[in-house]
Amino acid sequence: MAEEELEVEEETEAEEAEEKPVKEKKAKPKAEKKKRKEKGMFSYYKVDGKEGLTRLRPFCERCGPGYFMADHGNRYTCGNCGFTRYRQQEE
Ligand SMILES: [Zn+2]
Repeated sequence: MAEEELEVEEETEAEEAEEKPVKEKKAKPKAEKKKRKEKGMFSYYKVDGKEGLTRLRPFCERCGPGYFMADHGNRYTCGNCGFTRYRQQEE
């Protein structure tokens, strides 16, 4: 709530200072605020321009496709069955 009040004050101030060049103070697009923090499944994929989607995590070999393994640096662990697989490729 406090943030909204601040924004309103800013706009009022801009109107009062009409003599100044207003070009730089164009209305900021505030519509894109809702885009952040889209986690969940999206964090398991990386959008690659050439190949489309690239999986950042391997699937669990026991549980099969759909069960991602957690990245623990040099190894992956399945959160479902506890299976641990050491990373094969070093990047
Ligand atoms: Zn598993």
